[in-house]
Amino acid sequence: MKYSVPRGTKDILPQETPIWQHLEAVFRRVFSLFGYQEVRTPIFESTELFARSIGTTTDIVAKEMYEFKDRKGRSLTLRPEETAPVVRAALENNLISPDNVTKLYYIGPMFRYERPQAGRQRQFHQAGVEVFGSNSPSLDAEVILLNLELFKGLGIRDLGLNLNSVGCSKCRPNYTKNLQEHFKENIKNMCEDCRTRFEHNPLRILDCKNANCQQTIEAAPASINTLCDECRDHLNELMKFLKIAGVEYVINNRLVRGLDYYTKTTFEITSNALGAQNAVSGGGRYDNLVEQLGGKAIPAVGFAVGMERIVEILKKSEIRNQKSEQGIILFLATMGEEGQVKGFELLKEIRSLGIAAEMDYLGKSLKAQLKVADRLGAKYVYIIGDDEIAKESGILKTMATSEQQEVKFELLKEALK
Ligand SMILES: [Zn+2]
Ligand SMILES: [Zn+2]
Repeated sequence: MKYSVPRGTKDILPQETPIWQHLEAVFRRVFSLFGYQEVRTPIFESTELFARSIGTTTDIVAKEMYEFKDRKGRSLTLRPEETAPVVRAALENNLISPDNVTKLYYIGPMFRYERPQAGRQRQFHQAGVEVFGSNSPSLDAEVILLNLELFKGLGIRDLGLNLNSVGCSKCRPNYTKNLQEHFKENIKNMCEDCRTRFEHNPLRILDCKNANCQQTIEAAPASINTLCDECRDHLNELMKFLKIAGVEYVINNRLVRGLDYYTKTTFEITSNALGAQNAVSGGGRYDNLVEQLGGKAIPAVGFAVGMERIVEILKKSEIRNQKSEQGIILFLATMGEEGQVKGFELLKEIRSLGIAAEMDYLGKSLKAQLKVADRLGAKYVYIIGDDEIAKESGILKTMATSEQQEVKFELLKEALK
């Protein structure tokens, strides 16, 4: 019997983990720089939380959730995204209030039952932020700047910014009416999903990827033409702040994002590093979600980055090689039983100095051990054989120069410093 990973999941193996570690380290540094603190929520939540927040007519809730019953019959769901859990955690632990700005970030796996394909997995990883407490457009701008900074920190260039406003509860109904008016004629020729969306949530039609639907979607009216004064001002102010920061953008009328909770700003960052122009992150404002999930009316804005795609970009580029991997500094090559015992003892002492060290556990020949040391990238090898045991000293070899010197056991720590 051979076992394999479940469909749509993958192992991240040692050859790839250094890229992930680098990516996460850069993200954490940039998040801290902008004043964000990390939050870690459970992998599963009550199903109700996602149904309420993401929206029952979205693809995520309707088709893609990993929903299951626990032994007491409670309906739970593996988190398909992290905004709702962060709002839940922030409310439950009183982290947010209307008079304070609270900045949180997260990094972790998410789960969606989608058809697996290149770059799309059923378990995937996202990093993102959620900021609570201000409806100022300067905060939307800051969040976008932070998002761009994450990619710049990794050396990723050629980024594009798409911007839109989906309005608020005051002006969205007008837009919905316009959309229904527009799609009314053609809806019978559109896909089944679109026909359902037409009844329940016409905005979602704009998310449809079905080729047959595209022509009608392309001609759909733009939400920015039906914004109320408040939403229009917000968008204008945001564009002003982006100009001040020297950030270029294009208004994309189709950009509504796949979730129901967005209000006003939606944005997407694209990169052409993988050939076609691909979205590498997206987000927006969600001023009603906190209240909708049982809190006060506290505005919020956030984004999420799909990490698999970033890893693909880093793999393709030379960028990641800037970072020197933490390898082995010292390899202890031992011969004979006494040599091994001495090696074991020294290994513990050397590691206690914070120096990465390794030894042979297979009783290999000296020649074979030197090969292993080379493969591990060891800078030094310390050879302990029977002769050396008697003299209480070993041979310290510098791998780059093949230079050798005799060093007493008790002086090895000094020599390595
Ligand atoms: Zn509005
Ligand atoms: Zn469609």
